[in-house]
Amino acid sequence: MTCYSEDYRAARTRLLAAAQAAGGWTHEAVAHPVAGADGEPIYMDVLWRGPEAASRVLTISSGTHGVEGFCGSALQLQLVEDAPVLPPDTALMLVHAVNPYGFSHLRRVNEDNVDLNRNFVDFTGGAPENDAYAAIDALLNPAELPDGAMAGIAAELERLRAEMDYLNFLKAVSGGQYAFPRGIQYGGAGPVWSRRTVEALWARRLANRRVVVQIDLHSGLGASGVGMLMMAANDDEPHKALTADWFGPMFVTPRPLSRADTILGGYMNEAMETRLPGVRVVPMTLEYGTEAGDVVLGAMIEDNWLVHHGDLAGERGQDIKARLLRAFYPTDPTWRAAVLERGRQVFAQALAGLGAADLEERLTG
Ligand SMILES: [Zn+2]
Repeated sequence: MTCYSEDYRAARTRLLAAAQAAGGWTHEAVAHPVAGADGEPIYMDVLWRGPEAASRVLTISSGTHGVEGFCGSALQLQLVEDAPVLPPDTALMLVHAVNPYGFSHLRRVNEDNVDLNRNFVDFTGGAPENDAYAAIDALLNPAELPDGAMAGIAAELERLRAEMDYLNFLKAVSGGQYAFPRGIQYGGAGPVWSRRTVEALWARRLANRRVVVQIDLHSGLGASGVGMLMMAANDDEPHKALTADWFGPMFVTPRPLSRADTILGGYMNEAMETRLPGVRVVPMTLEYGTEAGDVVLGAMIEDNWLVHHGDLAGERGQDIKARLLRAFYPTDPTWRAAVLERGRQVFAQALAGLGAADLEERLTG
């Protein structure tokens, strides 16, 4: 039977049922303060398998970007059904629906229109500024979006892409911004529910471990059906060499050198490293490509307009929602099979790596 579900409720129900059927899992549900799309209660769910006192943990999270949880949840369900043998002294922690609101309501962002992976910044002393975004907010966040307007927006974005310096263009369309609460890539005005909840979870479940390998599951970026492992690390950091041995080619970006660079920061993975100071954390993202970048960005712009200015229940609203869902969750069986196969490979590689006797030695450098 397929691991893929068509709504948040089904995805959650099936994962919890599979864990119960498999046995050996403990479950904790943290209720979200806002209801789901059907008025149903929604949760961040935590599943744990393996020794409570394990010194090594593989943690796999889904739905940080709400609607991307369909892909991530399927990968988690497959893993539970596979029931892999864990190395000694190693536990598995699954976090299902880090952003359950976005998962249920088919949004990439949360209940506050916040992109969680832009929210993990230090808000004391003010949020980062993103002038590149500010200059084109009107383009990305229009108050009116007549039929056919998306073609014009796409053409203008193409023009800017050709004209602007690459990093500046990236900051403008993909970097966090903290000044336009109804804009896209909004990072919030303080730590949101999902951030507070996940940080409390780390403190409760991960703070006393020796090694934590984190894989945060995403979709919507890269070549269709390809699952690319991504990580931030400088060349001299031991986990860069270690993960190259485990996984082969990865997309590794150097650490930001200045606060201006951190406009492309605010990521959950980065925060996990700073929140778990005594733990050797290997924080990775497994990102699956779906559609071309302009299609994905276009779907986000339309969805953002719909939520703030449109009619969700109307025919056009339903159409926009359907396109947003498919931009992050394709139906193509070839895509879906490739996603699961790659996930199985990555999780097995991570577990094998965690089982290595010289793991801590190598992470110490
Ligand atoms: Zn994502």
